[in-house]
Amino acid sequence: MSIHPFSPEGRLNALEQMSKETVDLLIVGGGITGCGLARDAALRGMKVALVEKEDFAYGTSSRSSKLVHGGIRYLANGEVNLVRESARERRVLQTIAPHLIHPIPFVFPLYKGNSTAKYRTGFAIFDKLAGVPPSDQHKLLKADEVRAMAPLLREPLKSGIVYGEYMTDDARFTLANAQSAAEHGAWVANHAAVTRFLLDGDRVIGAAVKDTISNKVYNVAAKVTVNATGPWAEETLLKSRFKPPKRMLLSKGVHLLFRAERIPIEGAIALRSPSGKEGFAIRRLEHVYVGTTDVPYDSSPDEPTADAEAVHELLTMAQQCFPDANITEHDIIGTWAGLRPLIDEGKSSRDTSRHDEVWKIKDGFLSIAGGKLTTYRQMAHRIMRHVAKELHIHFENNEKTAEVILPGGKLHTNVENFRSEMMETLKEKGVAEQTANRLTWLYGTFIHDLIRYGEEDSMWLEPLADDINAIKGEVRLAVEQEMALAISDFMCRRSALLLFSENHGLSAVKTAAGIMGALLGWDETKRRHEISRYTEIANAHMLPVKRTRS
Ligand code: FAD
Repeated sequence: MSIHPFSPEGRLNALEQMSKETVDLLIVGGGITGCGLARDAALRGMKVALVEKEDFAYGTSSRSSKLVHGGIRYLANGEVNLVRESARERRVLQTIAPHLIHPIPFVFPLYKGNSTAKYRTGFAIFDKLAGVPPSDQHKLLKADEVRAMAPLLREPLKSGIVYGEYMTDDARFTLANAQSAAEHGAWVANHAAVTRFLLDGDRVIGAAVKDTISNKVYNVAAKVTVNATGPWAEETLLKSRFKPPKRMLLSKGVHLLFRAERIPIEGAIALRSPSGKEGFAIRRLEHVYVGTTDVPYDSSPDEPTADAEAVHELLTMAQQCFPDANITEHDIIGTWAGLRPLIDEGKSSRDTSRHDEVWKIKDGFLSIAGGKLTTYRQMAHRIMRHVAKELHIHFENNEKTAEVILPGGKLHTNVENFRSEMMETLKEKGVAEQTANRLTWLYGTFIHDLIRYGEEDSMWLEPLADDINAIKGEVRLAVEQEMALAISDFMCRRSALLLFSENHGLSAVKTAAGIMGALLGWDETKRRHEISRYTEIANAHMLPVKRTRS
């Protein structure tokens, strides 16, 4: 029987293989940039290795606003190319991942004093420049139609504009790209950190990679190595005494999570408070998140957290935008913070472009900076052009990345029918409605595996805890097919329970650790350590005032 590349054995096999022969391309960093690049290169038939020090999407790629968006805001900065590319990519990504790229109506409310004609012209320019298909083009809403989508939004509403955007689960989307790369031959491993680069004279010829589970070190020889470590990119270069051609600017963005009944909205709403603060509120199943801030950050990129000032700023904006909701700090059930890896242009972080650049650091060594989740596929194309130069070969545009469906996305019917069919099957098997809804939103065709586990033993369809909309089979899937090796891999990124469940899913963690430990052969000390490590992570996602100090 062949080994699943995302099983624990598959991971070890990948590490062994990548250290046995020279790969064409070694990618450092398993965020969306690295995973997208690995997929692009693997689809071209290259010999590819990707290593990630913690877990896929451990960094910014699980801490974003989770929008696959056209970026209409960037038009104001004249970034027409970025807007055009982002808007086009939305359609491509929905084609390759219909199970993970969910359409969402985005409402821009207009108040007395706002010129409808001015805003409509802006949206019309966006539709035209970005080539937006009719179904996603902007439409004018009457005030009552805006109220129907956001009944507690501040008044006096005049009207609104609605346009089509998309949202995703960024961590699972990143994972799907890593899995797709592996499906097409890439050797991929998480919990595998590059500790130093290997040099032959002035040329980088690979890297030393430490398996942080076994502590074994592998030397991976590569024709080209790419530093795709996002917010860690500058640190990674400086640690090896490589000089980046430009400085990077890390900008922190914070989000607050509420139960949807406290801020009842459908879709997403652009927020503009009377005092001039701007942001958004986005509905995701039973929750609504409010974001985000944009403030320079100069501490370690490892665990950014929501600070009291950002929480205050976002809460005040939400209170002013939904005055009748009477929300207070007690309504905030979670927070998260991410770091934008921007290229320093000497401007404020909000005005700094989201464009990406590829830098040649040494012969055989490239580094990527900037970018967005939405444009990751095009970033991969751009990096591959530089890789081709290093290899003295020529690459065509890679259309395969726009055609090959990501794992979980090969649906036999359209996504609405697929979700309702799967909902029915899960409900017939005793899975609660909200849980079934969440599963069909996150897992695509992997639902078939969850159902199969349930047919082997109905225990796998049981909830992980009474107050948690997740089932035991998800832990098994995460271990057997999604390379989850730590309880945080499962809680934070495979299941999204850290961000989108009551009390960060802490009531489920013992059961989840029990299942994971049995599958991975943990002893009691390891199991306890995993639970305590996750408890610390959950603590860091609470409101600053509720956190216990260690
Ligand atoms: P990361 O995801 O941070 O990945 C880098 C990886 O490198 C990490 O996993 C890290 O563990 C690994 N690494 C570091 N050092 C090593 C080493 N030595 N060895 C091995 N691995 C290593 N974009 C959108 O399109 N839509 C949005 O709605 C959106 N919202 C955002 C909101 C916020 C608050 C922020 C901060 C960003 C947002 N973005 C959004 C931008 C987008 O999220 C980022 O551009 C993208 O996730 C960056 O991905 P990355 O792979 O470059 O970095």
